[in-house]
Amino acid sequence: MNTIVVRYSELALKGKNRNWFEDMLMKNIRKHLTNLGKTRVSKIYGRIIVETEGSPNKTLTILKYIPGIANFSLAVPANHDLEEISKIGIELCKKHLPENTDTPIRFKVSARRSAKEIPQNSQEIAMLVGGKVLEAFPQLKVDLTNPEMELGIEIWSRERSILYLEKIQGQGGLPCGTSGPVMSFISGGIDSPVASWFMMKRGCKTTYIHFHSYPFIGEQSRQKVIDLVTHLSRFQPKSTLYVVPFAAIQKAIKESCDEKNRTILYRRLMFRIAEELKKKIKIQAYVTGEAVGQVASQTLENLACTQDAASIPVLRPLIGMDKAEITELAKKIGTYEISIQPFADCCTVFQPRKPEIHGVVEEVRDDEGKADLEALIWETVEKTEVLHFETRVENKFWEE
Ligand code: ATP
Ligand code: MG
Repeated sequence: MNTIVVRYSELALKGKNRNWFEDMLMKNIRKHLTNLGKTRVSKIYGRIIVETEGSPNKTLTILKYIPGIANFSLAVPANHDLEEISKIGIELCKKHLPENTDTPIRFKVSARRSAKEIPQNSQEIAMLVGGKVLEAFPQLKVDLTNPEMELGIEIWSRERSILYLEKIQGQGGLPCGTSGPVMSFISGGIDSPVASWFMMKRGCKTTYIHFHSYPFIGEQSRQKVIDLVTHLSRFQPKSTLYVVPFAAIQKAIKESCDEKNRTILYRRLMFRIAEELKKKIKIQAYVTGEAVGQVASQTLENLACTQDAASIPVLRPLIGMDKAEITELAKKIGTYEISIQPFADCCTVFQPRKPEIHGVVEEVRDDEGKADLEALIWETVEKTEVLHFETRVENKFWEE
């Protein structure tokens, strides 16, 4: 059995909701670890303990992607006997210290005692155990401010405690499902996968929608979005992707509306179709990867024109970011390599020579009214493909 202690971030701040948040995080951890063999997830005040018979490396990798986890450690369980704890501490350090070298290593013991049953306080425990470890390894030099090696001890109630050497960074944020559900507009570009990740990190269960312009656009761009959602499925237990055939709508817009308004109208129609799907599934906001001024179509006027077709908030987590900042995040999340594959998006179909940059809501609405879209929207929703994704993890992804 491997023991992992999981520490969570903002949960502790949530007052009365604390239990609910903790339970949601435990439920998510269980779902993410389903395929890893026998696993027990339990909580002890302020911590979640994962005990698993599965591969420790795989378990650690999976935990790196679960929103709501601040950090975690592979740990060795112990009781309250400080002699025993010191022995385990020495064993742990032995495994991690380079062999046959007496190069000095800066070292620290930090202890946290939530059980009041033992007489020593945290500092005394750290001194006592630290003393024994220092005796065993003369190359260790105490450095409380900048240690290279830190032995952590947590003393819990009911005769339980743990020791660990390394804290692995988690995603932070909030557990999936603790905020409302959203629908993320995913295009296959660099931005929208990053926008989706931001919302998942804020606890929003994210459903994806992609508009595809087959036969004007090839099958590869659809596959690219499937690859992106597959990758993003690391961050929540289950995901759904709606793939909407958009060509007929684009053709109708081309035939009946002003050329300069096409890009705005495509976007408005995306919202109108999402509004239809919203009648069947619970969504409280839409998410896009837009940033002010990033491209000509993303002016404040045009954002107002497109948002006008939505009845719920349109969240734009990247709104104030530079392309370079977004790109850096895409690389960190791991979506960048998929996003840069050169397959066109539906927005490039019948692109206007001179697109409207300062759209006016009333004018755009009037122009949209020239096309007969009601029946077409209904038909499009009927033909929408629904794909389901389970969480998945490869061994190596989150680069250190
Ligand atoms: P991205 O890198 O996300 O493609 P972008 O900078 O290329 O963004 P646009 O193509 O103008 O910008 O798209 C702005 C936003 O509109 C996207 O971030 C996405 O949320 C949404 N969007 C664009 N095309 C599609 C599509 N085919 N399906 C779903 N949403 C889309
Ligand atoms: Mg795009």
